[in-house]
Amino acid sequence: MRRTLDIVDTRPPDLDDKPREECGVVAITGVEGAAELAFLGLYALQHRGQEAGGMVAVDDDGVARVHKGLGLVADVFDAESLKRLEGSTALGHVRYSTAGGGGARNAQPIVVRYAEGDLAVAHNGNLTNAHDLRNWLVREGSIFQGTNDSEVVVHLVARSRHETVDLQIDDALTHLEGAFSMVISVGQTLYAVRDRRGFRPLVLGRVEGGHVVASETCALDILGAEYIRDIEPGEVLKIEGDKVENLRPLPPAKKASPCIFELVYFARPDSRLWGVSVDRARRAFGRQLAREHHVEADCVIAVPDSANSAALGYAEESGIPYELGLLRNHYVGRTFIKPSQADRDFGARIKYNPVREVMEGQRVVVVDDSLVRGTTSRSLVKFMKEAGAKEVHFRIASPPVKSPCFYGIDMPSRSELIGSTRSVEEIAEELGVDSLGYLSLEGMQGAVEDAGPFCNACFSGDYPAPLIDVEKGYVPGNVGPSC
Ligand code: AMP
Repeated sequence: MRRTLDIVDTRPPDLDDKPREECGVVAITGVEGAAELAFLGLYALQHRGQEAGGMVAVDDDGVARVHKGLGLVADVFDAESLKRLEGSTALGHVRYSTAGGGGARNAQPIVVRYAEGDLAVAHNGNLTNAHDLRNWLVREGSIFQGTNDSEVVVHLVARSRHETVDLQIDDALTHLEGAFSMVISVGQTLYAVRDRRGFRPLVLGRVEGGHVVASETCALDILGAEYIRDIEPGEVLKIEGDKVENLRPLPPAKKASPCIFELVYFARPDSRLWGVSVDRARRAFGRQLAREHHVEADCVIAVPDSANSAALGYAEESGIPYELGLLRNHYVGRTFIKPSQADRDFGARIKYNPVREVMEGQRVVVVDDSLVRGTTSRSLVKFMKEAGAKEVHFRIASPPVKSPCFYGIDMPSRSELIGSTRSVEEIAEELGVDSLGYLSLEGMQGAVEDAGPFCNACFSGDYPAPLIDVEKGYVPGNVGPSC
């Protein structure tokens, strides 16, 4: 049987460039041509990662074929590559990683052949003990190809001394710490797992003859799949066609801590996460923001698209009319060629442009979902003033981001986070705004209290899962004393 692996990268692994990843996963089982469905699912999850995409499909003989590549889903796959991905089980993955941590060799799913057959893993989240585990595995003789966390999982399963695949997976999972929403296939059997704190989302759906597992419900919608339920924190599911079985769950955490930043920024507004509509959560953040930071103004505008729902909430609550004042170019990728005459606002200018007719002579409230480095906002304020805005009042539908995320959201180091190094007054001055208001932590949590409690480490510095690699000095901490 011919086996394919389309990306070959022979560079030696470099542990220093371990990626901090943002990812989306999808898996289908029990449906002939599963890869075509997984492809559609990946399309819907593209916002979770634009750097690389990959898919593995497993045929009736248990043979896994993989296709991975750099770029958007539509660029990675074509009719030919999808045709080659035969079988009724398929796993797909999209990812984005920070510069230096990317590259083809870290594209997922990871696929290996081991004693029990072809094994594939696709992972969303970040293990906080991946370096520690890797060092141990290397000392034990394991050989690694890349630097991502999923490879650690593959080795842990393959070297387990337990007799059945179920127990080998159980054994591997007990070693993992941190954030993992993961799909694993061994032959055509699919396993779906969420870490015991449930940092990243993972949902279960039904299609005719089989099941779908995906990071977000928007991937079920595109497939016309029926949403069954969220996979619970610590739950380990074994799925064979239309049969779903619960394996031994992971040891329970004191409390679950799904990531609130998924609701703030990362997830798609048409998804439901943890029983909450992302759109409704963002509107509630916007309404609360209006209550906390009212200002006399002529219009409310959003920094599109991530702040659209929050800005609508602000407008609804304040009674100030909502306007489409900033346009976003949807065709700008994560990277582009910078012309030599480009100015320092180029990164924002290529993406956003104000509508002069909305701005001229107006007192504008501009709502953004979060402030990270503050670089985009600084440029936006300048553009709005150049377009004639009389006053610019910046409102952020989340608290100041003060601490980096170690659980799977790509954030810069602490020193680069504007909310960690400066006061609100200093930030307002730096952005050149007439006023600045952040949603309070209590206000944000109160707006979605039915769904919490959440991990809010990026806002509070309170990390629910131990940062083992940071504590052991394997990865830069940047946690700082005031977190
Ligand atoms: P800046 O403050 O210039 O770093 O940009 C902040 C904007 O980037 C926010 O308004 C979000 O819409 C967006 N954003 C927030 N977190 C992330 C992330 N992890 N990756 C990419 N963009 C993000």
